[in-house]
Amino acid sequence: MDKILTGVEQFRRSVFPANQHFFQQLASKQQKPEALFITCADSRVNPNLITQTEPGGLFLIRNAGNIVPPYSTVGGGEIATIEYSVEVLGIRNIIICGHSQCGAMKALLTGGGLEHLPAVKAWCSHAEATRRIVERKYQDLKGEELIVAATEENVLVQMNHLSTHPCVAARLSSGEINVFGWYYDIGSGQIYQYDQERGSFFELDEEALAARPLPLREPKNGSPVAE
Ligand SMILES: [Zn+2]
Repeated sequence: MDKILTGVEQFRRSVFPANQHFFQQLASKQQKPEALFITCADSRVNPNLITQTEPGGLFLIRNAGNIVPPYSTVGGGEIATIEYSVEVLGIRNIIICGHSQCGAMKALLTGGGLEHLPAVKAWCSHAEATRRIVERKYQDLKGEELIVAATEENVLVQMNHLSTHPCVAARLSSGEINVFGWYYDIGSGQIYQYDQERGSFFELDEEALAARPLPLREPKNGSPVAE
């Protein structure tokens, strides 16, 4: 805990005073984040760092396995947060970001070690479709390759779940919202985005980033969602 408290001290002493105007501006207005960023709770994933955004830039949902439960009126933290971000904050871009070496994906594939973790096991049931897809589609893959494939497939499964949320579904069909699927490789720093047309993830390298607007996920009505 020492490291954290030292950090608080440093923030109070130097970071906040040096950026006081910025924080006061933030506090004086309603937040207007660029995107809803849904990613894993893994401590090695830092959404603001990899997108170089500041406080106020990203509205976040984090949980084990960057899971989006399908819509249900029973509710839950993720469902309420998605609804709030879209209906109240007017979010127009949603990024679901999986990552390399994801413990949740490893647990999902092996199924092992979850006997004494009933809550984790129940949570991972929202990724059961991922497990089935991987089982059927990637019989030749093993080890790290299999985990990468599962992580990418899981991003797509969760994108589908997201489209079951009425507020998202309505805006997808009217072209008012973009949903992006990302894979972040911690060790290389590379970020890959899903391209619906190619049916695969491609690296967001300099060339891809220069070619903006980037390929978007097709909405349900079949026409590309415009920025
Ligand atoms: Zn993870």
